[in-house]
Amino acid sequence: MAWLGIEGHDEIRDFFARTLASGRLAHAYLFVGPPGIGRRRFALALAQTLQCAEVPPEQMAPCGSCPQCRQVVGGTHPDVVVVAKPEDRLEFPIDLVREQVIRTLALKPTSGRYKIVIVDDAETFSVAAANCLLKTLEEPPDRSLLILIATSPELILPTILSRCQQLVFRPLSAEVIERILLEQQLVEDVAEARRCARLAEGSVSDAIRLASPQVQKLRMLLLEALSQQPLEAADLLAAVDEALQSAGSAASARREAAAVLLRTALAVLRSAVRVAVGAAPAEAADEREQRVVAMLASQVGLEPLLTMIERTVTAQQQNERRAHVVILLEAWACALADAANPPSLVPRRASVTGQQARG
Ligand SMILES: [Zn+2]
Repeated sequence: MAWLGIEGHDEIRDFFARTLASGRLAHAYLFVGPPGIGRRRFALALAQTLQCAEVPPEQMAPCGSCPQCRQVVGGTHPDVVVVAKPEDRLEFPIDLVREQVIRTLALKPTSGRYKIVIVDDAETFSVAAANCLLKTLEEPPDRSLLILIATSPELILPTILSRCQQLVFRPLSAEVIERILLEQQLVEDVAEARRCARLAEGSVSDAIRLASPQVQKLRMLLLEALSQQPLEAADLLAAVDEALQSAGSAASARREAAAVLLRTALAVLRSAVRVAVGAAPAEAADEREQRVVAMLASQVGLEPLLTMIERTVTAQQQNERRAHVVILLEAWACALADAANPPSLVPRRASVTGQQARG
């Protein structure tokens, strides 16, 4: 059952129900887990639960209609503050920590039970910003609650980590994501919802992005390029161009577009390997993708497909390590074409026979 429309984190809801029933709410929590799985929504739902004037918090069922609830939901509650790293910054600005986090928590609640600050992107804290928070964590003001949201505990300084109670948010199942996409009418077509949900690796926001018209167009270009025989780097580069152009000039958006492109290619190649070894293609593939997959399995063959997968995974790692997006994608396109077209240009079966003859 979804709690306040939040799917897939029932264990954490139950944890807070027990904590509130026993009156042992801590002053600081760290919510860790991949982006797009509902960490921030959960934090806001918890804030609403704590502030609701009609239903005691331990019931975990805020009424939704009292002024407190309405203000939290509307983002206007004076005692619930959400702070995130500005998009154009790589690091969480220390000024924001001082002014929005520490100063807010030091004030008494004006109308709610608690002063609550939710800090997103906490993994981007610099050492100085984290140190700045230490005093607040060591001597938390009365009726204050700090919720830090981060992708991974490894990215949080040990001094912060040891002063927060950590809760791990797990990726959502493909079935849950598919249901969210359809119920919230983010995707109309059932097959399309299933495909995006399976590709999204547990993240609703990724699934929504994958379903966007931009990504659909990109996917079509990629399928078109992969369906060419012989596979040409130039066709792949057209898809690369489209991905980067539609992403605009912001570095993070271009990296994101590269990630989507590589992930889409990887799904097709993995499906082709399954078919090449006699298994069924990935369930999520639509008719068009299945045709390309069948063609790759029969025309390119298992060994080159495995090399193509390896090259794609390498490109993904380079992208995560912040290599230059254009260079890594160009190298990837060329590596894929090379792998798909062995230099001999002789049909593969004949070349195997040739090797055997020589051996
Ligand atoms: Zn209420």
